[in-house]
Amino acid sequence: MNRSSNIKLLNNNKKFDFIVIGGGASGLGCALDASSRGYSVILLEKFDFCKGTSSRSTKLIHGGVRYLEKGQISLVYEALKERDVLIKNAPHLVKQVGFLIPVYNYFLKFYYFFGLKIYDFISGNLSFEKSRTVNRESAIKLVPNVDKEKLKGGVVYFDGQFDDSRLGIDIALTSEINNAVLINYMSVESLIKVNGKIKGVIAHDSVNNNNFSINSDNVINATGVFSRSIMELDSNKLKTVIRPSQGVHLVVDKCFLNGNFGILVPKTSDGRVLFAVPWQDHVIIGTTDTVVDNPSFNPESTQEEINFILENIKNYLEVYPLKEDIKSVFVGLRPLVANNSSSKSKDLSRKHKIIVSESGMVSVIGGKWTTYRRMAENVIDLTLKKTKLPFVNSKTSDLKIKNGLSDIDFSKKSLSDDFFLSEEMIIHYVNNEMALNLDDIMSRRSRCLFLNIKESIRIAPMVVEIMSNELSKDKVWINEQLKSFYKLTNINKI
Ligand SMILES: Cc1cc2nc3c(=O)[nH]c(=O)nc-3n(C[C@H](O)[C@H](O)[C@H](O)COP(=O)(O)OP(=O)(O)OC[C@H]3O[C@@H](n4cnc5c(N)ncnc54)[C@H](O)[C@@H]3O)c2cc1C
Repeated sequence: MNRSSNIKLLNNNKKFDFIVIGGGASGLGCALDASSRGYSVILLEKFDFCKGTSSRSTKLIHGGVRYLEKGQISLVYEALKERDVLIKNAPHLVKQVGFLIPVYNYFLKFYYFFGLKIYDFISGNLSFEKSRTVNRESAIKLVPNVDKEKLKGGVVYFDGQFDDSRLGIDIALTSEINNAVLINYMSVESLIKVNGKIKGVIAHDSVNNNNFSINSDNVINATGVFSRSIMELDSNKLKTVIRPSQGVHLVVDKCFLNGNFGILVPKTSDGRVLFAVPWQDHVIIGTTDTVVDNPSFNPESTQEEINFILENIKNYLEVYPLKEDIKSVFVGLRPLVANNSSSKSKDLSRKHKIIVSESGMVSVIGGKWTTYRRMAENVIDLTLKKTKLPFVNSKTSDLKIKNGLSDIDFSKKSLSDDFFLSEEMIIHYVNNEMALNLDDIMSRRSRCLFLNIKESIRIAPMVVEIMSNELSKDKVWINEQLKSFYKLTNINKI
């Protein structure tokens, strides 16, 4: 992907079949779906691809056992079908991960086993192992650091796991193969309307400080928790309430599980579930569910949220993490859809909603990473039904996602012992994956900042030096990059 050559395509006043606003899971999914059907597509992202919620998930490709307990069978069914599609189309990124639900009383062992058998049944597939009960000894073998006092064994089940922002970049690369034009650091500032109908957008290029007017009859608003601000550019008569709900994750050393299995805490003190999942040689623990009034592009955790996670995982681990063991914190915002503002966020459906405004702009809100492909198919189908474009069926259920890193030589030296980031990779991210800023490399091309804040700060000067050589930037740029990166690392203080 080359940003400068993509920007040149904006100068010839071309009319696109689709404009997609937002480069997270929803927007990238729409760009891939529409471009692979043969339509011309441009995607505009205000910051970096997956800068928002789509790099801040729990990294599970799952049906959601929690939704099963709430009786949301169709949601679980759809997500489990998509889990199969993803493992087939992106096998380089989606892997099976096993979870232990440790049990300390026999009735609960039976109860969870019964629930997970229904999960297996709904999934109906053969790609994942079936759930089973395990005795005390086997449970300890799977999670050596599980709390052993009064442990009666557990129930084991399997789901999918992935690297969220890496999948985002690979979807972007696959869209480009299908002739979509994708541009990051390009923010939609206003909408073009003729006789009340949507005809395009005005976008601001924050790198070159230029404005572009881009034409299309089909504008898709896929800006997640920020959807409301785009909807407000369109109309002041909004009925739908978007309730951003914040989810915090802590990252700790892998010794806190000490194996390849994760733990599912089936009921936290606020009645939710909590995961401790092995990921990239570390353990992610989360998440929380706190309603926030104003969504931020850099959401911050609170001390209460951090304490909540530490308190709830403590009962399940023999050696449990303390505040000083936290290596990193990351926070995502769920774009939940409510019909009134009083419902509790944990009770709101994770099902997506598509809203077509009077002007014809289509907004897609909510959903999950797991179902991004299905959501995109629904959005493009619905948009096509209201246009003069010929209807072509979606092709993504059988479309392989490109592995953008397949040609990189991983054998070279890493800049860190805690995670893998080599000079070759940095050069590749800059030249082929539109990484423009230090944070793009540290947070989303690699996941360094999500894994270990202190170590990321240590290697940042080396990373930015390599970037500056590739981008022909001077010392002033280097200092600015480091300054804004250090500011970012200070956001989620532990
Ligand atoms: C804590 C948490 C854990 C989760 N865990 C999981 C999980 O394990 N599995 C799962 O399947 N799902 C999970 N999800 C859900 C999943 O992450 C989200 O549903 C998904 O990432 C939402 O993607 P999106 O594209 O709609 O929003 P976003 O990723 O937020 O993308 C919106 C994009 O729009 C851009 N934007 C905003 N304004 C403009 C503008 N004016 N112009 C251009 N661009 C703009 C933003 O910069 C952003 O990049 C989780 C969510 C949270 C919050």
